Amino acid sequence: IPVEPFDLVIFGGTGDLARRKILPGLFRRFRAGQMTPDSRIIGAARAPLDADAYREMIRQGIEEFGGPESKDSESLAAFLDRLDYVSVDATVEEGWPRLAALMRDGVVRAFYFSVAPSLFGPLAEKLHEHAIADVDSRIVVEKPFGRDLESARALNRTLAEYFREEQIYRIDHYLGKETVQNLMAVRFGNLLFEPLWNNHYVDHIQITVAETVGVEGRGGYYDKSGAMRDMVQNHLMQLLCLIAMEPPSRFEAGAVRDEKLKVIRALQPVPVHHIVRGQYDAGDGHPSYREEAGNPRSFTESFIAIRAEIANWRWAGVPFYLRTGKKLKARHSEIAVVFKDLPHTIFEGDHARHRNILSIRLQPNEGIDLTVTIKEPGPGGMRLIDVPLDMTFSEALGQEGQDVPDAYERLIMDVIRGNQTLFMRGDEVEAAWAWTDPLIAGWEARNDVPKLYDPGSTGPDDALMLLHREGRRWREIK
Ligand code: NAD
Repeated sequence: IPVEPFDLVIFGGTGDLARRKILPGLFRRFRAGQMTPDSRIIGAARAPLDADAYREMIRQGIEEFGGPESKDSESLAAFLDRLDYVSVDATVEEGWPRLAALMRDGVVRAFYFSVAPSLFGPLAEKLHEHAIADVDSRIVVEKPFGRDLESARALNRTLAEYFREEQIYRIDHYLGKETVQNLMAVRFGNLLFEPLWNNHYVDHIQITVAETVGVEGRGGYYDKSGAMRDMVQNHLMQLLCLIAMEPPSRFEAGAVRDEKLKVIRALQPVPVHHIVRGQYDAGDGHPSYREEAGNPRSFTESFIAIRAEIANWRWAGVPFYLRTGKKLKARHSEIAVVFKDLPHTIFEGDHARHRNILSIRLQPNEGIDLTVTIKEPGPGGMRLIDVPLDMTFSEALGQEGQDVPDAYERLIMDVIRGNQTLFMRGDEVEAAWAWTDPLIAGWEARNDVPKLYDPGSTGPDDALMLLHREGRRWREIK
């Protein structure tokens, strides 16, 4: 179903994110027929390009990053026809009147700020000054949204000078993933899970986002951020909110975001011994984090594991183990809800621990499965085995020939539709910083040195201990 006609301006339209994710994603939506014939995309960045040179740049980007669809040269040419380009600098006057002249009435106006956060304020001001944005226009802002509570508040205040909260779409692409939305469908579309979704039946929850890549070219930026700011404060906390929130009364932006906010506010302060910070060492011909970051004395964490707790009736006593890191064994993101042990087994000779585990995999192969215990088939007597019950119905979820939108394109279409459910509200982001700030301040005050770990491992041993000492173990990173 096509969305309303739109003019989408992408500030930073020549940047890495625009070429790798945003435009290839828009091309897929175009091919799926979601862009009306009069919708347009306008790249806006500093480079002095004309529209044809920009189209050529984007054609190359789509061919490189757009997957098999980009081979369809006819639709690619038709898509590129929708592109225009304006050279503007957020900090100077030039170019802005031209952009203003391009805007049309009667279509949705959306502005994607795919630029450094320091430019959010200047861009918002320019859009206002030149009357490019109207009262219904939407702006999309990328991460990072601040680096602590104070800077996030300042950013929120700046944006609020020019836009209402209903116009601001703070993107977290983890929320755009098919499986993350499926998690909500499974939780709230079935009777089966909700009665078990609490501290009576859930032993603990694990959220893992493991990457195999290091910081590579981004070392300078990353060294000022670290895993906590770069991954936990946004992505992992958003996942935690969706798992832990109370059922909202409707699947609607206000209701969902109210419930997420309550979870963040109920997060307990984390004691020092429930945090493990790590940094990858050199190994196997790979440089160490410090070499890649160009900072031989860096104390920044490229790995973090946290045992968090939510202080409310539903979750009191249930640990939420969060872990994320770079240069780990495999690229693997998963949320696992690990249910409690059976109170008693009636099967003689069965000494294995059988547990139901609901696993929500975000990458590499998105899907949801539930580990259930059944009888091993065959004549061997009552032998129990654990098998995964696949709840993804993968045929429905993007086998060949199916068109499953990826996170960015889905979220951009939500912006055009005016649906904020899968975007972070200002108060949520601030609450998340309010929880992470004291933890960061704590290790900075202690001059905490991250534990070294080997590239290709599962992180420092201390992270394993975080669970072992409570008789639990991390799920495999595979
Ligand atoms: P980039 O450095 O590749 O591109 C930056 C873009 O901003 C360029 O198009 C440049 O022309 C434009 N720009 C710079 N100064 C400008 C000015 N004064 N006025 C107007 N335009 C200006 O950056 P990127 O990797 O595309 O990232 C953009 C934003 O998205 C950043 O905030 C980044 O943190 C965020 N982000 C990037 C990724 C990613 O994978 N690249 C992922 C998540 C978030």
